[in-house]
Amino acid sequence: MQRGGVKIKSYKWGYCKQIAKVACRNAPLKKQKFWARVLLLEIPGVGKVLVDTGYSAHFFEATQQFPYRLYRYLTPVVLEEDPAILLVDYVLITHLHPDHIGGLHNYADTPWIYPKKGVDMLKKLKGLKALRQGFIPPLLPSKIPEGSQAVSEFGATPFSDQFLAVDVFGNDQLYAFDLPGHAVGQMGVAFRDKKGWVLYVADAAWSAKAVFEGTPPNALGLLAQNSRREYLETFWKLHKLINENSDITILTTHGEEGRDE
Ligand SMILES: [Zn+2]
Repeated sequence: MQRGGVKIKSYKWGYCKQIAKVACRNAPLKKQKFWARVLLLEIPGVGKVLVDTGYSAHFFEATQQFPYRLYRYLTPVVLEEDPAILLVDYVLITHLHPDHIGGLHNYADTPWIYPKKGVDMLKKLKGLKALRQGFIPPLLPSKIPEGSQAVSEFGATPFSDQFLAVDVFGNDQLYAFDLPGHAVGQMGVAFRDKKGWVLYVADAAWSAKAVFEGTPPNALGLLAQNSRREYLETFWKLHKLINENSDITILTTHGEEGRDE
């Protein structure tokens, strides 16, 4: 199987505004846009994999009623137009925050690759308990599509001895790897494009620049994490990894970095 042939396209499906300093302690005390980035991967021998689904009109329906409406006040979301529904073979969900599963209803019949730990734990929660985890239950379709894969048994990774991963399709093309700290069961995805390894780390950091320079969120930003200790452990591991390996590229959900082809 040919390696390194994964093609990437990225889309920004909605954004919210937040104070930059909360996300990165050296950043200015002014508001900036935090885009909901979505990746479309074309994987040889597999097909098209959409990584996360951004926001969509479903987000506004799901947050009409209290208590989920509170989320809108805390995180004002802007969606200039409802994203087009893409024809894909799989949807990979990194974690269950609204900027990642906000369009999942558009892919209710497409097989998912999802973090078992996150889905198992969060699907039991409702109301304020769910909201406290940054989870809005109506955004998660009640039925998991046929052919879906629950990722749980993480083992060795080919790109680092510091992270644990699963070879998603068993053909050395796409790895889902464990990224504890930000949200319950958060996973990243790793694959090779023609320039080397690309690690999409979702919200394990706010930008690739922050990881490279070693500037984690400020105290308020760390409070928003599921586990402050695990978040920082993961963050510093990524920092070391990309400073020691020039052929590894990091992509995040909210950073300004991009890698369109
Ligand atoms: Zn998140």
